[in-house]
Amino acid sequence: MERDLDMNTIGRPEQLRQHLSQTLLPTLDLRPFIDGEFCDPLAREFVTIRDPYLMAPLVEMPMPSVDDADAAVIAAHRAHTKGHWRLSRPRERADCLYKLATLIEANLEELSVLETSDTGRLIAGVRGWEVPHAAEVYRYYAGYADRVMRQTVPSTSGTRIEVMREPVGVCVLLIPWNFPFACMAWKMAPALAAGCTVVVKSPERAPLSAQYLARLARESGFPAGVVNIIAGTGPEVGGRLVRHPLVNKISFTGSPATAQEIVRASASHFPQLTLELGGKSPNLIFPDANIEKAAESAVDAIFGVAGQNCCAGSRTFVHASIVDEFLQILIERTHARKLGDPMDEATDQGPQIDQNHVDRIDSYVTDALGKGAECHVGGKSRSGTLFYEPTILGKVTDTMRLAREEVFGPVGAVYTFESEEEAFCRACDTEYGLAAGIWTADRDRVERFLAFSHVGTCWVNAYNQVDVNAPWGGTGLSGYGRELGERGFEECLQTRSIFW
Ligand code: NAD
Repeated sequence: MERDLDMNTIGRPEQLRQHLSQTLLPTLDLRPFIDGEFCDPLAREFVTIRDPYLMAPLVEMPMPSVDDADAAVIAAHRAHTKGHWRLSRPRERADCLYKLATLIEANLEELSVLETSDTGRLIAGVRGWEVPHAAEVYRYYAGYADRVMRQTVPSTSGTRIEVMREPVGVCVLLIPWNFPFACMAWKMAPALAAGCTVVVKSPERAPLSAQYLARLARESGFPAGVVNIIAGTGPEVGGRLVRHPLVNKISFTGSPATAQEIVRASASHFPQLTLELGGKSPNLIFPDANIEKAAESAVDAIFGVAGQNCCAGSRTFVHASIVDEFLQILIERTHARKLGDPMDEATDQGPQIDQNHVDRIDSYVTDALGKGAECHVGGKSRSGTLFYEPTILGKVTDTMRLAREEVFGPVGAVYTFESEEEAFCRACDTEYGLAAGIWTADRDRVERFLAFSHVGTCWVNAYNQVDVNAPWGGTGLSGYGRELGERGFEECLQTRSIFW
């Protein structure tokens, strides 16, 4: 279906918003997508979904209830049991995934406008990376559909032994609000390629791109019950999904606190778990690095997605000999950032997701300033809006809340170190283990850091890159399991050993 925006509207926020309000939102089906159909929710409660930049309502969304959650799981279980998807020819699964990728690309503009208005993320990033990346992920995993196979393995006794790989079953996929469209792709694509059926629970604060995806999934030809997409509140609808005894796997992206509840709640029936949680990632700058490049990259590491980024480089460790030069560039670039309409390509930073989140960010900054930190730039919200100024703090001690907990906002702390050993020890003194950056010309130093640290992703003279081939995930409070790459696919399979 070709119904995307005229490409001439690119870069014109008023026209994009006009299309959104006059065409896109009125035709977007907001009901739960269960068993191949949009259905009336079983309870008729409505929640207002807001545009964080305009602070104005976008739509009144009918909220699914726990009964809808049950219906979605039952539909997914029935589709799994029937076997028409898990036992289908790999080519059929690949065709549906390819078609979905193609439809996403054909609707790039509408998806970008929707995601930007719903999350406040910059349209430049959504259009330039998130939506095309999601299409790439569906296409990439289409190529994995024929890897669900049987292998004969050696036997010590002469018995013929086969190891069969099969889809794990019904997967509940719990999505956060900061990158909903990309997160859905990371979870859905490998599960569907493996032959699993899925129930996606979209984030209550940003559910709209999931509704659009439901329509594209229907057009892509997935059989009824294979893809189910519902919105709903976390504790109620999400809570019901993770407790459901017919669920075989839960893949969750969100905060460690919610992950702990999910682990406890799912203990009644032991589904497989993949947990992609937050971070407190360090970015280390050594004197032999390109200082200017490192400082420019640090700006994006800290402030990208208005800091609402799980791998944000929120702790920057800089060698004492270069800290003045580094800070000067960092502060200049931070001052130059343009806060404004996320629908405008020229904007560098959009709003935070909601007022609670702004208050939460501010509480970390106030706490740090009250305990002796100094503010180089920013340090406050902009009243009457959901903007938090890009903030660089100094003299943050390693024990302050701001140094230890995930702020998830545009706030970075710069620390000074004297030796490599000190830098490594302080950078890794965190319960999180999602990602780290290291800037140096010394390859041996990088190897020493890799041997010392436990993060799931390490960038060398770079920051914030992901690739569909490279597994993503963390250690410690950043969770366990991996998404993307071959490993992301393996997590949607189980094995069965057959002794003939
Ligand atoms: P969250 O934990 O509040 O919610 C995530 C999802 O879980 C939502 O769909 C929510 O409705 C649902 N949920 C909430 N309570 C639940 C419960 N009791 N049972 C079942 N489901 C429940 O997280 P958020 O605020 O949406 O997202 C921000 C967090 O996500 C941050 O900590 C961020 O670092 C993390 N994150 C991690 C990655 C990664 O790849 N590691 C990527 C993006 C975001």
